[in-house]
Amino acid sequence: MALNLIMLGPPGAGKGTQAERFARVRGIPKISTGDILREAVQTGTEIGRRARAIMDRGDLISDDVIIGIVEERLNRGDARSGFVLDGFPRTVAQASALDRIMNGRDPLIVVDIVVPESELVRRLGSRLICESCGANAPIDGDGALTMCPRCGGRLVQRADDDEAVVLERLKVYHRQSEPLVEYYRARPTFRSVNGAQTPGQVASDLASAIEAAVAPGVPR
Ligand code: AMP
Repeated sequence: MALNLIMLGPPGAGKGTQAERFARVRGIPKISTGDILREAVQTGTEIGRRARAIMDRGDLISDDVIIGIVEERLNRGDARSGFVLDGFPRTVAQASALDRIMNGRDPLIVVDIVVPESELVRRLGSRLICESCGANAPIDGDGALTMCPRCGGRLVQRADDDEAVVLERLKVYHRQSEPLVEYYRARPTFRSVNGAQTPGQVASDLASAIEAAVAPGVPR
């Protein structure tokens, strides 16, 4: 059975870190719409040029554009044996498009990562990403890192982690993305995980939650 996982949760909940870790362990692709868009901005494609200002002010890219990107990506061969989606869906319209795309495939496993707002603001204000490869630098490591532990690139603040933009992104989350929890909650493959723990503890809770969600006997 293919493991088709989506992660819900506000910006700063750790979706990217957990998605990356889980995808690596399971050998399935991690598909992050934020990463795809940041790459498009960096390489200066048409979509990237239009997305830049929207991302810089903390708003969402239009549903049509992002659904098109995700549909194309999920139809590539490597996603047939499973995937971890990070940052999609973010609106109810995206979630219902995803249900259409998933028609005839194994069910979605939906994990909501829950973190208190004060902790999110703290994390987003202090996180750094690598300018070259886009990896998140660990926040709670030993002392301040100056170089990417993965590729040696320079660590910088994300343009949209600026304080005013963070507050806007959290507002956008509450308004547009939080309703997704209600959209998915009644499904037997929905689980919540406490994200206010160390990354290792969250990863272990996430693995147990997913195991429980796909256990035989869980109706789908
Ligand atoms: P992220 O790295 O997931 O925090 O995404 C960074 C930014 O990319 C968001 O603030 C949005 O502007 C844009 N973005 C990423 N995913 C989506 C999506 N599913 N729908 C609309 N905009 C998105």
